[in-house]
Amino acid sequence: MKWYNEAEYIRKQAMNNNQFFKNSLPMIASENVLSPLCREMLITDLHGRYAEGTPGNRYYEGCKFFDLIEEKAMELAKKLFNCSYADVRPTAGTTANMAILKALIKPGEPAVVLDLANGAHISFGKWGAASVRGIDLISYPFNDEEMNIDVDGAVKLIKKVKPKLALNGRSVFLFPSPIKELAEAAHEVGAYLVYDAAHVLGLIAGKQFQDPLREGADVMSGSTHKTLPGPQGGMIVSNHKGDTDHDKSFLRKLGFGVFPGVTSSYHLHHVAAKAIAFAEHLEFGEAYAKQIIKNAQSLAQSLHQHGFNVYGEKLGFTKSHQVLLGIGPGKGKEASKLLEDSGIVTNMNTIPGDQDPLNPSGLRLGTPELTRIGMKENEMEEIAVFFERALLKKESAKKIKEDIKEFRKDFQELHYCFKEGFRGYDYHKLI
Ligand SMILES: *Cc1c(COP(=O)(O)O)cnc(C)c1O
Repeated sequence: MKWYNEAEYIRKQAMNNNQFFKNSLPMIASENVLSPLCREMLITDLHGRYAEGTPGNRYYEGCKFFDLIEEKAMELAKKLFNCSYADVRPTAGTTANMAILKALIKPGEPAVVLDLANGAHISFGKWGAASVRGIDLISYPFNDEEMNIDVDGAVKLIKKVKPKLALNGRSVFLFPSPIKELAEAAHEVGAYLVYDAAHVLGLIAGKQFQDPLREGADVMSGSTHKTLPGPQGGMIVSNHKGDTDHDKSFLRKLGFGVFPGVTSSYHLHHVAAKAIAFAEHLEFGEAYAKQIIKNAQSLAQSLHQHGFNVYGEKLGFTKSHQVLLGIGPGKGKEASKLLEDSGIVTNMNTIPGDQDPLNPSGLRLGTPELTRIGMKENEMEEIAVFFERALLKKESAKKIKEDIKEFRKDFQELHYCFKEGFRGYDYHKLI
């Protein structure tokens, strides 16, 4: 047993990580925690299996039960997004985006996107997945005050450059994008509108954000572990029906982009957990999404009252799960470290005008996980006070951390998920 201690070391660190999060305020906007029923799927036999292809049309045998699972996952996904096409195979949001780029654009062709400084995700940036496809990225103009794509400028840009794709992918996503206008312009020049809903998938499914497929998006990708609190993974949905040859070919290309394009094994245990997360979101998603947004608005308002520079003031700070703070030129990293030492987990983030993504000037905050553990508007007001103590009054991080541990004691249970058979479930414990 020469190497057992190494395995024990890893277990110890995982337990430390559980304890750390148990006693902290998890406020990273893209993070969430898994329900007990979803988590159970991750340790089933499905984990070790392969299923290339689609239900009933497999390269490998042994898939008869998984076929039923994947079919159900697609059926629930279509219900959740009220659409006619769903692919639950992408193993991440980034993988879903790569599949779409593989399907709908060729190397060297132009696509219009947001800039990283204005909240785009790296997968549509020149250093990320888009660069693997070698496409020509052209940036939308941005309106800092409204924290949104400048509609008129973007429409003009689309008409001028005639891109293959108009992309909408935002990691800082305070307000809905002007999809109707962008889609109209895109369709006029024969481009598709791609809506990357990674962050806001759960808000859309909970009917509390915009409805991209109704507003003109041709295809929507997303991560299944952000505001939609399922397992790590991605998905693609569309409301194209495949009722003409051209449309059939569009959907066939999307499917081919996923497999064999960018997946082989697509993590069958995650597909099962996705299906359960969809069922839970159909049941609880509306109430969950509502509370997430209320909490973000309350947090933003309170932080503003305590003297923080909160973006989007003119429009009520936020209509999503996020809050964006300006901290001071290049000061984002220092602030996020100070918060971590105080027991608050966030991330530094670029704000409009930032040139250096490694030394950004802001902090991005999110309420999905705080909401999931039962916090409401009152708790957001208390959290704003912790921020003031840590960042403005510069109180001892050690003392704040102790107070936060105490504050968190009443919030250790998961909400908005099925608990049948899991009374008293402690999601911070290993199996
Ligand atoms: C998080 C994010 C992704 C990537 O998703 P992963 O599941 O982490 O690969 C893609 N696009 C946007 C806009 C994101 O915020």
